[in-house]
Amino acid sequence: MLSDVLRELQQRDRFVITSHARPDGDAVGSSLALGEVLRQMGKHAEVMLRDPVPVIYQKLPFAEDVIQSRAVNGSYDAAVLLECDSLQRTRVEGLNRYFLINIDHHLSGRPFGQVNWIDASACATAELVWQLARTAGVEITPQIATCLYTGVLTDTGSFCYSGTRAGTFALAEELVRCGADAVAVAQQVYFTNPTSKMRLLGAALANLHRDGDLAWMFCTRHDFARAGALEEDAEGLVNYALAIGGVEVAVFLRELPDERFRVSLRSKGGVNVAGVAERFGGGGHQCASGFAIDGPLTVAIERVIASIKLCCPVSVTSR
Ligand code: 5GP
Ligand code: MN
Repeated sequence: MLSDVLRELQQRDRFVITSHARPDGDAVGSSLALGEVLRQMGKHAEVMLRDPVPVIYQKLPFAEDVIQSRAVNGSYDAAVLLECDSLQRTRVEGLNRYFLINIDHHLSGRPFGQVNWIDASACATAELVWQLARTAGVEITPQIATCLYTGVLTDTGSFCYSGTRAGTFALAEELVRCGADAVAVAQQVYFTNPTSKMRLLGAALANLHRDGDLAWMFCTRHDFARAGALEEDAEGLVNYALAIGGVEVAVFLRELPDERFRVSLRSKGGVNVAGVAERFGGGGHQCASGFAIDGPLTVAIERVIASIKLCCPVSVTSR
């Protein structure tokens, strides 16, 4: 819990902070914020991620200091993992030699660290970093607030997902009062899409299928190549399938370079898609989860749809 994490942080000096591969807004925002919180506490802290910071988050404070690496071997007293249910999720090698501090807000969170603080009631890991900073007596600078606000905004789906409560808005208000630039973050996150992402969306929508309460879409390597798209361009496309009236669960599959498929699941709240993802070795939240699956595409789609229908008996009626 929080007090354990704080005690361990206070007793140590040098930290490496990391999060999951293909980092999202909360992974990037909460990592950058925690790095600065630790530095304000007089510690040495570096953020290391397996994959590049997505373009839309590159203007965040301290983003240029992120170390992109497949392995860690520096002299650190502890590694802090944010948003991860396992060491593997970071896809950074070498973390197991460090004292591990695990901070997460996923339903599928696991106590793999020496110290674990998993609170699925938090709307974002950024909320936990906020609590940590406040408890440690660290001043929330505008830069820290902007990073945390990015995590809250993106992990709540712009205050739309079911975890959004009065406290979520209270936190957002506090962060803006501390100097978070809400307009700049929104501009950066929602209005700087590359053309390739829109072209990829076109391909995904051309591959839209519907079966009652379920909708699914996919993008093949060929779709990516034609759109000139990067992997990060696929982030959020699944929401267009969930936006359809009457759809309760949306599935988006994208082909990986190794011919496996990365699957994103989204639910409007009635169905726990974290449970479905866990069956395939992934995880996430009740309303947003993911995993990887072997191809070929038609088999993968059949397996995923069968599992959704089985795991959570939504009323599926063809229309
Ligand atoms: P996305 O569909 O955007 O990739 O992921 C949605 C949510 O599911 C995120 O909260 C993400 O952390 C989680 N998630 C996605 N893929 C995996 C996975 O392979 N393992 C686990 N444990 N969680 C995942
Ligand atoms: Mn998160």
